[in-house]
Amino acid sequence: MKAMIGSLAVLLLCGAAAATEKSGDKGGPKAAASPVAKVAIPPPRTLDDLIAVMEREARKAGVDPATVRRVLAGFERLPEVADLAASQTEHERTVAQYVNLLVSVERIEQGRAKLAEYKQLLADVEARFGVDRHTLTALWGVETRYGAALGGRPVVRALTTLALEDPRRPEFWRAELLQALRIVERGDIAAAAMLGSWAGAIGHTQFMPSTFNRFAIDFDADGRRDLMGSVADGLASAANYLSHSGWQRGETWGFEVSVPEGFDYALSAPTPLRPLAFWKERGLKRSGGEALPVSALDHRLLLPSGANGPAFLVNRNFGALLRYNPAIPYALAVAHLGDRIGGAGGISKAWPNEPAMPRADRQEMQERLAALGHETGGVDGIIGSLTRTAIRSYQKTLGLPEDGHPSLGLLERLRVSK
Ligand code: CA
Repeated sequence: MKAMIGSLAVLLLCGAAAATEKSGDKGGPKAAASPVAKVAIPPPRTLDDLIAVMEREARKAGVDPATVRRVLAGFERLPEVADLAASQTEHERTVAQYVNLLVSVERIEQGRAKLAEYKQLLADVEARFGVDRHTLTALWGVETRYGAALGGRPVVRALTTLALEDPRRPEFWRAELLQALRIVERGDIAAAAMLGSWAGAIGHTQFMPSTFNRFAIDFDADGRRDLMGSVADGLASAANYLSHSGWQRGETWGFEVSVPEGFDYALSAPTPLRPLAFWKERGLKRSGGEALPVSALDHRLLLPSGANGPAFLVNRNFGALLRYNPAIPYALAVAHLGDRIGGAGGISKAWPNEPAMPRADRQEMQERLAALGHETGGVDGIIGSLTRTAIRSYQKTLGLPEDGHPSLGLLERLRVSK
């Protein structure tokens, strides 16, 4: 996932997002999902206007205005990026489809090979930042197929084009462009060499420029934070980001569980994290049948495709993955790929055979829930915690398991509900 603007939609489809899990909008490495800015003043439409605005913004941000003029001189637009920003089609995949796509046999095998190839580096990064080597390798694999797909678009040109041509978020793109200029000014990566995704994400672990400037690490100590050219810098920077996002050393992300018959599904996410003893008392076990492991961390029960699908107890390390990209399928893919790279088997419980739910259906579901008095917080097609709570309260009236999972079956029931 190099361009993450669409990934919120994925999050919503699989729908287990707690309110806190959406906080990744605010600053993940690919923070491109920040809300649409209200623009009081029309954004610059010509390069000269943009340079003038950027020079003012550079001064305020402590970047030399001369850098703006020097790097943007001779700018040529990248025609496709504004279309890519505008199309941002939803990935209408179920969480099962998404996880299966990313956790392929090929990606597992490549990950194991990388684990061996970079054994010492991964051990060093793990020792310094506390993020285990399997998760970090998996994140690298999901972001760029272990460096094979860094993205080949010139970042400055892409961001400049977006600042001029994406009417939805000109301020966001200008801010990222300014941060890209800061990277150039510091000498970490030259403007001409800075390649990345259409949205400006850079390097092995796809950092947006703002994240680069806050969290990038010169781990190979050559004087440059080179997230493109140095695997060491790329992996250490991702580990640094996860560490700042609350990753707990010595802990994994969570694990698959089996849920006993008669379980009260209203206890599943979005709900607070709870001690493992709480879940043990309610009969949850590891998916293989053994007792829950020992962990000092609190966990919440995640049902990415509802009560009929796999169940996971996840902790704040899973939350750190969501800070990287606030989409549950993304975090689950990284977490599970990490387990597989480490030698674990597949997810035990079969995913339910259900199609992805299109936005129009999600909106109709919200309309119908609201009409029945179950408040969804708007008809936006976004399955946040309010909609999930509304689904639960509707499920309760029908005597169904209160898993809060949006499904076409549920929509069918709503269509005939009075
Ligand atoms: Ca370096």
